[in-house]
Amino acid sequence: MHRFQIMVVLSLLAFGLSACFDGAGERQEYAVDGPLLHVLGTLQDGGAPHIGCNRPCCRNLFLRPATDRKVVCLGVTDTTAGGERVGAMFEATPDFPSQLQAFQSDWDIPLERLSVFLTHAHIGHYSGLMFLGREALGAKNVEVWAMPRFRDFLTTNGPWSQLVELGNIRLKALTENQHIAIGANVRVIPLRVPHRDEYSETVGYRIEGPRNTALFIPDINK
Ligand SMILES: [Zn+2]
Ligand SMILES: [Zn+2]
Repeated sequence: MHRFQIMVVLSLLAFGLSACFDGAGERQEYAVDGPLLHVLGTLQDGGAPHIGCNRPCCRNLFLRPATDRKVVCLGVTDTTAGGERVGAMFEATPDFPSQLQAFQSDWDIPLERLSVFLTHAHIGHYSGLMFLGREALGAKNVEVWAMPRFRDFLTTNGPWSQLVELGNIRLKALTENQHIAIGANVRVIPLRVPHRDEYSETVGYRIEGPRNTALFIPDINK
């Protein structure tokens, strides 16, 4: 287990969200336009069931895996000025295949209009990139945003470097405190946070919608 403290600060961005729910909590419809925030996972890097855990919490999950217990990941979608829906996933986790499926099928976002924003090089936060490679999806030019040291790490170490060489991913440069736009209404701002930076910097993200803001900090040491 990690010894550091994990803090997730998430204040749902009202973001123009107008999803409707029936009495059973089932989603019925979503707003067609504008920004939406989708929590795709909340767990620590090791996921669930956790390797080596023989307690009832995980023993039952080994027998019957839960569909709603995924490693920390956030999805944000917005529409462009031209009305096209675009999306961003924050982190590429070991649960990336199911999280990508959930995100894409809910919002009808093709890979060409998807960006991935990474926080740091610990396994729960970037190892899902492996599924974009030729052994799995064989993706083309998926936009992946990372800080400078993290980009160097991905570019110079296999198997990640192969994703770059084969054009499965296209690395994009983040700069601390400088915003990136997602669609017409959302701005993403990387913020450095203290953590064990063995292979990369660690950032969190301030995600600004038209009415509200979310702060996404999956890992931090205080
Ligand atoms: Zn973590
Ligand atoms: Zn970490």
